[in-house]
Amino acid sequence: MRERSERYDDVVIGRQYRDMEFRDLKEQYKQNKQAIDCAIAGVLDSTHFISGPQVEELEKKLAGYVGVKHCISCGNGTDALLLALMAWNIGAGDLVFVPDFTFFSSAEVIATVGATPVFVDVDYDTFNMDVESLKRAIAAVDEQDRHRMKAVIAVDLFGQPARLDEIKAVASDNGMLLLEDGAQGFGGELNGKKACSFGDISITSFFPAKPLGCYGDGGAVFTDNDSWAELIRSLRVHGKGTDKYDNIRIGMNSRLDTLQAAVLIEKLKIFKEYELEQCDKVAKLYDERLEGVVRTPKILPGMRSSWAQYTVKFENKELRDKAMAVLKEHGIPTAVYYAKPMHAQKAFADVLSDVDELKVSTKLCDVVLSLPMHPYIKEETITQICDMIKEVTAV
Ligand SMILES: *Cc1c(COP(=O)(O)O)cnc(C)c1O
Repeated sequence: MRERSERYDDVVIGRQYRDMEFRDLKEQYKQNKQAIDCAIAGVLDSTHFISGPQVEELEKKLAGYVGVKHCISCGNGTDALLLALMAWNIGAGDLVFVPDFTFFSSAEVIATVGATPVFVDVDYDTFNMDVESLKRAIAAVDEQDRHRMKAVIAVDLFGQPARLDEIKAVASDNGMLLLEDGAQGFGGELNGKKACSFGDISITSFFPAKPLGCYGDGGAVFTDNDSWAELIRSLRVHGKGTDKYDNIRIGMNSRLDTLQAAVLIEKLKIFKEYELEQCDKVAKLYDERLEGVVRTPKILPGMRSSWAQYTVKFENKELRDKAMAVLKEHGIPTAVYYAKPMHAQKAFADVLSDVDELKVSTKLCDVVLSLPMHPYIKEETITQICDMIKEVTAV
């Protein structure tokens, strides 16, 4: 391995990659420092740290961008999912369908409200919920338990929307609601319609490394439904009635603070004007260089990805692990999203699953590798990363 890596030693071991970022938030800040600093200073001057005017301004802008009637910001993406399930009164005894291959939150919230997750397999090419597997999972529910089926959580994994129109049809044919987990999908599109607008309720996360990230934790709920929107506005502030000292239901405390809203107003501009398009270019550069080397991500016709991750697939685990080690040795950060399917997580040991139905999710965990992906990565860096991967797979 040493010999084969040698030709990079001059470029790679040197300064160039010592501080290389997986998602370069430092460069993003550097290039937009003035606007962001000014927005933050404005909040500091006002000391209106909670529920300042920037929060409502941001909610209006986000609702307009996504194309839905209501945006309700909150503390993080996990709370956003939780608020949706609470608004639908989902709890003990209820069944909620969710992909087996996703970030833990998507499934965790089902258990948090006391309901039972039903894990559904994903499609090997897109990493997103396999509609046929969903249909089979629904068909496998006993007749006397069918009334317990309440919702489907579809995840827009790595930035590409799930087949949300088809999933929504399957959900509603079976009397279920669709919750779109767009934590990674914000900015993506399906047939010209923006991600986070397909669910009966949809959510996103503003965790710093997500497509649109803030400088701490943040999240948002999107819906066209007036009464759910009103309910969620109450639930996020202790189940408030006329004010937070009038408590008409049990809720939680989950607000997006004013500093985060002010940062997001600035970052939404850059996101729309520059970052989304730039990520498309980066993905294209990777695609060209890695074609025939590894399986590159497949974007379906009519879909646009917001490139939360650029995830490739190797022939087997040994090659994946080797590529990861070689890149790491050269200071290039990569990540395995995800190393374990939901059904194999200890926290879900009590959940009964048909493991034969979850083969693709299980296999993906062995072969996926997410490469550095962000709007500020240089073309030469992409070339060098790809050359190293070529060397590993050429053996
Ligand atoms: C990040 C993420 C979440 C949770 O968002 P947080 O803001 O970190 O709570 C939920 N679902 C998916 C698919 C995610 O990637």
